[in-house]
Amino acid sequence: MQKRRVYLESIGCRLNAAESEILACHFVGAGYTVVHRPEDAELVVLNTCAVTAEAARKSRSRLRALQRRSPQAALAAVGCWVEFAAETAQSLPGVRWAIPNADKDRTVALVTGESVTPVPWSPGIWSHTRAFVGVQYGCDSACTYCITRVLRGPGRSQPLAETVAQVRDFVRHGAQEVVLTGVSLGAYGHDLGLKSGLAQLVEAILRDTDVPRLRLSSIEPWDVDAALLQQWAHPRLCRQLHLPLQAGSDAILRRMGRRVTTAEFAAVVDHARVIAPDIAITTDVMTGFPGETVADFEAGLDFVTRMEFTRLHVFPFSEREGTPAARLPGRVPKAVRAARAARMRALGARLADAYRARFVGRVLPVLWEQQDRLGRWHGLTDTYLEVLAETSENLHNRILPARLGSMMGVYLWAEVDPATDMGTSEGETTS
Ligand code: SF4
Repeated sequence: MQKRRVYLESIGCRLNAAESEILACHFVGAGYTVVHRPEDAELVVLNTCAVTAEAARKSRSRLRALQRRSPQAALAAVGCWVEFAAETAQSLPGVRWAIPNADKDRTVALVTGESVTPVPWSPGIWSHTRAFVGVQYGCDSACTYCITRVLRGPGRSQPLAETVAQVRDFVRHGAQEVVLTGVSLGAYGHDLGLKSGLAQLVEAILRDTDVPRLRLSSIEPWDVDAALLQQWAHPRLCRQLHLPLQAGSDAILRRMGRRVTTAEFAAVVDHARVIAPDIAITTDVMTGFPGETVADFEAGLDFVTRMEFTRLHVFPFSEREGTPAARLPGRVPKAVRAARAARMRALGARLADAYRARFVGRVLPVLWEQQDRLGRWHGLTDTYLEVLAETSENLHNRILPARLGSMMGVYLWAEVDPATDMGTSEGETTS
């Protein structure tokens, strides 16, 4: 009998990606095959997002598009957009299930009507070679523009021992890199009474598992303490710190309800660079927040330049119904928000080029993930540089030293030394 086939897609944050990996393990445990085209599936699942008006619009239109591409399939809409607009989601053509966040981990049981034992995660079971692990959910902060804390609820953490065991299991099944993720990852352990909870978790994972590379996703600046920063002295912790700035003006940070000033933010960045000089500092910036003057915006450009970020995610402010910011005076016209975003992105591209150029000629370990249609292998350094290589060797899910060469757009070309598999060894080689 032909196996049932499921197509899984995820919009939005890394936590959604981590949850979709776990959904895949449950569907395979329930006897499904995960397929990579909706046309080939009897069941299509979209893990939705509603962080911005654009993300909500995208979730809705993607469900319509998936229904048109796979009219034969039953659709399940899952997650944040369902939390925000359950009735609308349920009313869309082909949508059989509209499952909010609170029930997300029961999706497979709700869809199949069976209790399911998931199979272990393995590289590529759904979409990623790297293992995304959700360890923290919800948020207790109160940024005025944010709908996520409304959709995801209060902060909750997966117990430390359980997380260490999960990472050990992922490594046993082939993970070369584990990415810890959450809604407010830096708040990990607050609800468990742990002091510097994330630092404790990172320390335990690096001590009690053999994971070759551990990466942390977004951490709010007010959650980065000395204990956490010290973890970056460990060669198996990827040298990347994603630190959302949102605005480079203290006046706007106050209006956003962000618990940080530009001076405090800069102090965290400086401290991180003392411990790991080549660390990649990546960030999120919002332009056109209500009340943002030309002077505020220019101050933001100056601050971003001074911080020498290595990658910027830039979003024009978008009102989210139900948030305090949506009612703030001093609206900035949408065209101005977009124009400021374009200037900020251009600055971000220059800073990213400058960072990439620092690595030309150096040899770094690269985790190779997949080949593109042109046969080029795509890989990632621990400093979050995207690398390309051409070789007849199968590089999938291997950490290999690569001499980084010329830049091509957002990539660096690399020469790979397939003889030296570094799955277990550490750090940059100088040879
Ligand atoms: S820290 Fe702020 S932006 Fe992040 S999830 Fe919490 S409220 Fe939202």
